[in-house]
Amino acid sequence: MLTFAPLKRRKMFNNRIKIKELLAMEPAGQEVIVMGWVRSFRNNQFIALNDGSTNNNIQVVAGLGQFGDELLKRITTSASLKVTGTIVPSLGKGQKMDLNATTIEILGDSDAEKYPLQLKNRPTLEYLREKAHLRFRTNTFGSVFRVRHALAFAIHKFFNDKGFVYMHTPIITGSDAEGAGELFRVTTLPFDKTPRSEDGSVNFKEDFFGRATNLTVSGQLEGELGATAFGDIYTFGPTFRAENSNTTRHLAEFWMIEPEMAFYDLEDNMNLAEEFIKYIIKYAIDNNKEDLEFLAQRLADEEKQLPQDKRSEMGLMGKLEFVLNNDFERLTYTDAIDILKESNYNKKKKFQYGITGWGMDLQSEHERYLVEKHFKKPVILYNYPGAIKAFYMRQNDDGKTVAAMDILAPGIGEIVGGSQREERLDKLEARMKEMHIPIEEMWWYLDTRRFGTVPHAGFGLGFERMVQFVTGMTNIRDVIAFPRAPGSAEF
Ligand code: ATP
Ligand code: MN
Repeated sequence: MLTFAPLKRRKMFNNRIKIKELLAMEPAGQEVIVMGWVRSFRNNQFIALNDGSTNNNIQVVAGLGQFGDELLKRITTSASLKVTGTIVPSLGKGQKMDLNATTIEILGDSDAEKYPLQLKNRPTLEYLREKAHLRFRTNTFGSVFRVRHALAFAIHKFFNDKGFVYMHTPIITGSDAEGAGELFRVTTLPFDKTPRSEDGSVNFKEDFFGRATNLTVSGQLEGELGATAFGDIYTFGPTFRAENSNTTRHLAEFWMIEPEMAFYDLEDNMNLAEEFIKYIIKYAIDNNKEDLEFLAQRLADEEKQLPQDKRSEMGLMGKLEFVLNNDFERLTYTDAIDILKESNYNKKKKFQYGITGWGMDLQSEHERYLVEKHFKKPVILYNYPGAIKAFYMRQNDDGKTVAAMDILAPGIGEIVGGSQREERLDKLEARMKEMHIPIEEMWWYLDTRRFGTVPHAGFGLGFERMVQFVTGMTNIRDVIAFPRAPGSAEF
């Protein structure tokens, strides 16, 4: 076995202990070094110091008379410190230990007058969105982004443990996976002297790649190429949609997880998606309980402002446990339409978009009705009308529906979209013709159907929607570090 000798550098700078680890120790006079940012300074003596490893601060005690006024004046909110001292059981209430400082070094000053988060009242989430460069230093965003990290890690662990290959699909592509438009063009053509073809259209042959290109909206099509060689793959990368949806669930840049599995049918696909969602939620509960409990309290506080009927019945922890402990409700699109049509909600015309009948695309208000009012748990809808779904979904024998599935989550709506893919070349080509998908350009995709085609399936999980679900944050812009949305790309 290979082993590595630890580096022996006596005078190294980073010899600190992280506060999370420190707070787990039994204080008995041990000498430690911590570094972090000042959250508050009380009575010219008690410093609440935070280093981002946990929302809990270490209480640093600067013994009276031990430090000069010059130094004490510089201990302001968000100044950064290096503190050496010993840990002892705390005499005060609210913390287990004090760090009795022997030396305090100011690493970086912070002008308290100008520090944007130095507010008497709790800053609103909207205000913090404008200060996104500093908002990680608040408890809410500390918790959100630690949970986001844990979920990302759990995703890799889940697929790695099952033998999936992590595949990096291209960010710049020449194909529009959904045929849905809403693309961000990638070009180096000049705006003032755009090269034109004879018919007046832009001549992309002169562009950097010799063709029109855009930022990817999905890695699925390339993922299928991987799955039909490795068996099981997943992608986890950024995707881009220039959709002008100013909602609390849409971003122009978001991260998507797209597993793609050979030898899977629709039911295998649903089983994997359900197991996957439960796994990553459980991982967060097991590893980030403290952060989740903080976020649960935050959500409860936020909901106190709402009328009774708008508050969630369960609370965040209860909701997560509930998802873990219950099977997702699975029903066909056709059954869903029947439930919606017969609902009192529809009869009393409470939907903005009425239920016109079989074939209609479901709006998010309909999805939310099914999840939040009717079943009160996550729902997997499957077998949608082919006419409202993408060209690559497998055609069912009824000649009307395709083997698609969406997973709908309480409070969020659609969190996963997936399908069994059409593996039969003739059927796929016929469908592409019908939908005006350029067959010649997709020669590489169709080759998988020409050379050893297999039943296969996959899905896409919107990572930020998952983070929203687990953290209880109501706006998707609060679960990604620097949100990109219409009219907003600061930082
Ligand atoms: P929606 O109807 O909510 O716009 P969609 O049908 O466009 O979703 P898909 O194309 O199936 O979504 O994408 C797969 C998943 O990616 C969705 O289930 C969702 O979780 C997520 N997603 C889609 N669009 C966005 C977006 N603009 N911002 C964040 N996540 C998104
Ligand atoms: Mn969409």
